[in-house]
Amino acid sequence: MNESDIRKVTIIGGGPAGYTAALYTARANLTPLVIEGFAWGGQLMITSDVENYPGYPDGVLGPQMMQEFRAQAERFGAEFITDDVTRVDFSERPFRFWVDDEEHHSETVIIATGAVARQLGLESEQKLQGAGVSYCAVCDAAFFRDKEVVVVGGGDSAMEEAIFLTKFATKVTVVHRRDEFRASPIMVDRARANERIEFVLDSAVEEVLGTDEGRVTGAVIRNLRTEETTEIPADGFFVAIGHDPSTALFRGQIDMDVGGYIETRGKTTETNVPGVFAAGDVQDHVYRQAVTAAGTGCQAALDAERFLADLEGGVERPLVADEALATPQNW
Ligand code: NAP
Repeated sequence: MNESDIRKVTIIGGGPAGYTAALYTARANLTPLVIEGFAWGGQLMITSDVENYPGYPDGVLGPQMMQEFRAQAERFGAEFITDDVTRVDFSERPFRFWVDDEEHHSETVIIATGAVARQLGLESEQKLQGAGVSYCAVCDAAFFRDKEVVVVGGGDSAMEEAIFLTKFATKVTVVHRRDEFRASPIMVDRARANERIEFVLDSAVEEVLGTDEGRVTGAVIRNLRTEETTEIPADGFFVAIGHDPSTALFRGQIDMDVGGYIETRGKTTETNVPGVFAAGDVQDHVYRQAVTAAGTGCQAALDAERFLADLEGGVERPLVADEALATPQNW
């Protein structure tokens, strides 16, 4: 392997975390390679207006924001491959990975492959994404002031989203496929105590209505016990049935939690493999915001930079998390 064939930094994933890591490492003269994925842009590509990203006082369309993130990293020398990584080998450094048959090598890798919100799999749901169908109440609730909405799901996310939506919507109907909840009892109690929330249990969504109008107008619900179908009028349709981190590629190579999220150490983006870092929703199932993903993308870039500086200086420094544990700080 030729020395010049080895990248200093490779970023896998093209969402807010990946592009921010690319911007920072590019500005540090590390000429990062971003393997951004065939469907680059991440979850923001199925989002219309983004009004909670600082710096956009008039809001911005999700796809446009991702285009701008990408352009900003490119301006400073980031290079892109618009394809998917098909295999990785993190067993030794330089790390090896493949895009189809093409082999690449890198001293550090930042994983930023994100997570995907689970979908119901309805054709009408897909057609109305960004037109009233949403997977994030924190992002989109404010568009439904004085309107009626449906939330699908019976876990903590569904309860939390339903409660949050009542700050804006006049009525929130929670549709759940069973009559028992996966959500914690305290969250269910809170939702039940909210007079703006109504529950439709033992029910599945057959169709999201509004494809002809180009905006959500309601949903067709089927009672799974009686097979009876009813229509619920609604302006918004929130799917809150969980997320899946995009980590199948890294299974067996890196430590993950039971949900498949990559484990990072302490307040850093370090994984259990020195030189491999993780940023964004692939390692965060709590906040899941574009701005928090971008924040951890920045952290991963700084962690990778520090790791490379230590390598060049021949320093065998412990990982930041170990160092912090060994040296108690008085803040
Ligand atoms: P979750 O716990 O996996 O719940 C998903 C819910 O969606 C379940 O009720 C499930 O129904 C339903 N569902 C799944 N697939 C469906 C489908 N195809 N059609 C209809 N319904 C479907 O996911 P989550 O609520 O996102 O929570 C994920 C984790 O984050 C959990 O550990 C949760 O405790 C945590 N969390 C905590 C908080 C908090 O404490 N404030 C807030 C949010 C999330 P079934 O029950 O029938 O399977």
